[in-house]
Amino acid sequence: MNEKNCIFCKIISRTSPATIVAENEHVIAIKDISPKAPVHLLIIPKKHIVDVQSLLPEDNVYAAAILQMARQLSAMETGRRDCKLIINNGVGAGQLVFHLHCHFLSGKKIVEV
Ligand SMILES: [Zn+2]
Repeated sequence: MNEKNCIFCKIISRTSPATIVAENEHVIAIKDISPKAPVHLLIIPKKHIVDVQSLLPEDNVYAAAILQMARQLSAMETGRRDCKLIINNGVGAGQLVFHLHCHFLSGKKIVEV
């Protein structure tokens, strides 16, 4: 399930440091080390899935868990219910770590799509 040289797999297995804000059986939420908003978190499935295009039918539990974690994180941010969720898929879309992750941005108005 883990990829040896993947930074997110290392964070999930606690062999690399990160600021973990929430976690459950399927996903982990950490602070982005280069925040683009007052609240910038990453929601990462605990299975090494490269991108949305690589999702298999059996990965539905992870796909759903990403959105459920976003709901939970929104509830944690009192007064900051609004959030933007971004998933970059592939180099051309700006993906930097090739382990599926969802950016959770909140705390300022971000209108670009
Ligand atoms: Zn990984």
